[in-house]
Amino acid sequence: MLLALLAAAALLAWRYARGRPQDLPWTPLDLGEPVGLFTGRKLAALGDSPARCAALLDRAGVRYVAVPPRRPAEARCGYDAAVRLEAGGARRIALAPDRVALACPVAAALALWEWDVVAPAAQRHFGARVVRIEHLGSYSCRRMYGRSSGGWSEHATANALDVAGFRLADGTRVSVLRDWDGAAAKAAFLREVRDGACRVFATVLSPDYNAAHRDHLHLDQAARGATGWRACR
Ligand SMILES: [Zn+2]
Repeated sequence: MLLALLAAAALLAWRYARGRPQDLPWTPLDLGEPVGLFTGRKLAALGDSPARCAALLDRAGVRYVAVPPRRPAEARCGYDAAVRLEAGGARRIALAPDRVALACPVAAALALWEWDVVAPAAQRHFGARVVRIEHLGSYSCRRMYGRSSGGWSEHATANALDVAGFRLADGTRVSVLRDWDGAAAKAAFLREVRDGACRVFATVLSPDYNAAHRDHLHLDQAARGATGWRACR
């Protein structure tokens, strides 16, 4: 009896794994699959393997150029393997400004977020396409909150992006600052893209977190290990 139950459980697990590999911790990441239970942790872990991250972007048809390494005097700042995303290819949403260096795991998560979260949410709430994600930048050699002591920001290694708003194909702008508590559709859209970002970024901080984030969504891929905590506020 016990053996039969174990066999049934194993069969179910096998079928589950075949159908939704993205829900299992040991399967390789594939940006072409829908976001699963372990997608976020796998994306954050890509920080240790830039070549594998770049290969995933290539396979998913995401266009990018490698950005030259940046090694400032402050040893806690800079990056070796950042990329600049290019419009076109598998991505139909542009970044504004477009010349922004991103650590590869941030770029990979951004592509997934656009496909799986931002585009469907915009269709649902506005019946429209998002053409631009407006941001406040990525790389900045500073500690958290610009303080003179304490932990270094993920921005110090281009491992973060601050998203300020979205531009739709009809010209409509959805702004974190103006619309978080604004009209129903825009406020609902912003919460939906915030919640969806939590599935692909290690850290997501929104206006719900504190006043410092009233005008943007902070998205980063802080490396906190396989069992590391994830922040979604
Ligand atoms: Zn930030």
